[in-house]
Amino acid sequence: MLTRTEGIVLKTQKYGEADLIVTYITPDRGIISAFAKSPRKTKSRFGSSLEPLTHAKISLWGKEQSLPKLTQSDIIHSFQKIREDYNDFIHVSKLSEILLSLTPSDSPNKKLFSFFLNILQFISSSEQESKEPLHLISRIRLLAVIGYAPRMSGCGRCGNNSIDFFPDAGTTLCRKCSRPSAGASKPFIRLNNQIIQFYKHSIEWPVNRSNRLKPHEDTLTALSAVLDRHLQYILARNLRSSEFHANTGK
Ligand SMILES: [Zn+2]
Repeated sequence: MLTRTEGIVLKTQKYGEADLIVTYITPDRGIISAFAKSPRKTKSRFGSSLEPLTHAKISLWGKEQSLPKLTQSDIIHSFQKIREDYNDFIHVSKLSEILLSLTPSDSPNKKLFSFFLNILQFISSSEQESKEPLHLISRIRLLAVIGYAPRMSGCGRCGNNSIDFFPDAGTTLCRKCSRPSAGASKPFIRLNNQIIQFYKHSIEWPVNRSNRLKPHEDTLTALSAVLDRHLQYILARNLRSSEFHANTGK
């Protein structure tokens, strides 16, 4: 069975001596993997079309359940600029990892595909001096699109005011609802108004207006840490890219 579609490469794994398993996000088939024969032998166009983040037209041969063979791959956009920028690439790798970990593999989602493609286009064409806010906003928006965005406005159980975020509950909780008897006496992170406002705008504003947000560096750092804790809990492990990021001291 021949399948033609388009996809963005989320990851590649070596397979044997020279072959690759390539995992894509596609608009009509969700996340799929395919087997690519010997792309690493030469610096071919086929080989370069399998680089992470490449958006390509692809043809697959075989059943999707049993690792189809990639028979054709033509680059639509290479997004080479993102791969060449260390910081951009690390941040976008986090997005890929969130997609791989939290999206069910057999549920096509056109909106999610378009969202990810738009983010890549936006990041690669951004002339902003610091793209840190953009990267954080992208991460927040992605979590919102796939339904895993944490709640940071009021108590998630009763709606009362709260600025204490409980990673294991995925929400801010008031004192009453976070009492041990309510089953949530775990460590929390105290937020502040700047963090909450920036988070709110990140979710509500279109991504292309994000350059109007000029958060203080402390706000970025704090919110980024809150999101990492949130993800850590929902993934039950650290994001590999976060660890890598931390280890390099950047
Ligand atoms: Zn409450």
